[in-house]
Amino acid sequence: LVSADNHTKRTTIRVGGVPIGPDTFTLIAGPCAVETPEQTLESAQLAKRAGATLLRGGAYKPRSSPYAFQGLALDGLRILAEVREVTGLPVVTEVLDVKDIDDVAEYADMLQIGTRNMQNFGLLQAVGSIGKPVMIKRGLSATYEEWLMAAEYVAQRGNLDIVLCERGIRSYEPSIRNMFDVSAVPMMQRMSHLPIIVDPSHAAGRRDLVVPLARAGIAAGADGVMVDVHPHPEVALVDGAQALTGESLDELAKVVATLPALL
Ligand code: PEP
Repeated sequence: LVSADNHTKRTTIRVGGVPIGPDTFTLIAGPCAVETPEQTLESAQLAKRAGATLLRGGAYKPRSSPYAFQGLALDGLRILAEVREVTGLPVVTEVLDVKDIDDVAEYADMLQIGTRNMQNFGLLQAVGSIGKPVMIKRGLSATYEEWLMAAEYVAQRGNLDIVLCERGIRSYEPSIRNMFDVSAVPMMQRMSHLPIIVDPSHAAGRRDLVVPLARAGIAAGADGVMVDVHPHPEVALVDGAQALTGESLDELAKVVATLPALL
């Protein structure tokens, strides 16, 4: 269902009315985690100023340590919905567990399957059944085929509103968090008809690389970019080191504005 075979055209999907696909370019930005109403609103305003048309933000956070901030859960979803009300930006947020799907689906415009859950087949089937767009991030060490098979689990339940997101894979290099795989963009476009976006924030794990990697993804033909932004990264509860400031997000916006010249 997700293979490029039998598809003459690549697919455009809509998230709360916002298109993601080959004929457009979509900037998604927002905080890594929803921390407070003020921090989420400020992040969304920075995102909007930079031209983002979708807001990201985690209410359920997959953390390596069980002692780290796990997200505000339902309260976080409510904050996202309030910020959508104020800014008009539809919301992308992660669902970690089948038991939370109804709550997340009630508030989100697109459900995100994170890298750690890419092969959580029960979760994939369950999000495939709720009729809302789904973003599937590439697993930490997933092959292209495995990634597409994850999407196939969602599609098989009748939901073809799927976006793939390259976010870097595990490597032996310690100075970056993950290795951004730029080949994933043209490869996914050859292997599948689904839109493919890139997340340079989670690939790099450090702010100074986010714009260069976004440039690489855009030059390779990505249908969109998703980045973390925070009004005060130095006090962020999650992944502050990779969060763009408003200023660096504006720099990315300038790159996006030159897009027609790059392609
Ligand atoms: C995220 O986007 O908030 C996230 C945790 O990403 P990943 O699953 O790629 O680590």
